[in-house]
Amino acid sequence: QPTVLIVLGMAGSGKTTLVQRLTAHLHSKQLPPYVINLDPAVSELPFPVNIDIQDTVNYKEVMKQYGLGPNGGIMTSLNLFATKFDQVMNLLQKRSAEVKNIVIDTPGQIEVFTWSASGAIITESLASTFPTVVIYVMDTARSTNPVTFMSNMLYACSILYKTKLPFIVVMNKTDIVDHSFAVEWTTDFTAFQDALNADTSYMSNLSRSMSLVLDEFYNTLKLVGFSAVTGAGTDDLLKAVEEAHEEYVKEYKPEYDKLR
Ligand code: GDP
Ligand code: MG
Repeated sequence: QPTVLIVLGMAGSGKTTLVQRLTAHLHSKQLPPYVINLDPAVSELPFPVNIDIQDTVNYKEVMKQYGLGPNGGIMTSLNLFATKFDQVMNLLQKRSAEVKNIVIDTPGQIEVFTWSASGAIITESLASTFPTVVIYVMDTARSTNPVTFMSNMLYACSILYKTKLPFIVVMNKTDIVDHSFAVEWTTDFTAFQDALNADTSYMSNLSRSMSLVLDEFYNTLKLVGFSAVTGAGTDDLLKAVEEAHEEYVKEYKPEYDKLR
């Protein structure tokens, strides 16, 4: 069975560039993935896609027709697409014997997917049929402040709760800043406390308590350093994906089956 990779992350974290890098790598290994673009507003797709939301809905037309702004246009386009997702599932099922990875790029603004009915419908359709994994992309260079890091991790945590799927945090852009600080903060609780303490402007009981909560989250977390520009960390990422696939089969699939 193929693994579905749902790529999520804040706008500009590098989702599209990661999909491009990963797709190129898999092609070079003669393992072409099945790629789906769910961003209705991307101007130019830098990778070959099998299914593109833009072939089904024109988001500028949707804006005009429904009198919406850009965000409403993107949201409504995704809703319109979600109503036809059974057709996508049929296509995926037909190809599932020959494809090892199904890679899904999502809209720039993360909440369009994670806090919408259509995002939930798409995620659940995929996860109830195929081993499905969330790739949460973070901008390493923009996460070096401990409080920013923590708030990004809290967001990751909330997505974990919403999707209930195996979860990989990809610290992207390691070509700009090495991700070793993130490894340290997520494995050594005192190191993170010290970093928080050093940031006097924000040191509060709340951030202390939050970091305690996150410590539990970190225990089960797969964290991978990656550069979508240089390709560094690709093997680590693929290894984490394989582990997450196993985790889905062992732990998540039985839960999904119980719900149905
Ligand atoms: P998305 O909104 O999450 O899809 O982000 P994009 O993939 O469009 O990337 C946003 C910006 O970050 C672009 O200018 C990319 O060139 C840049 N970018 C993405 N990944 C990397 C990376 O690994 N290293 C560097 N230096 N820049 C990156
Ligand atoms: Mg993008």
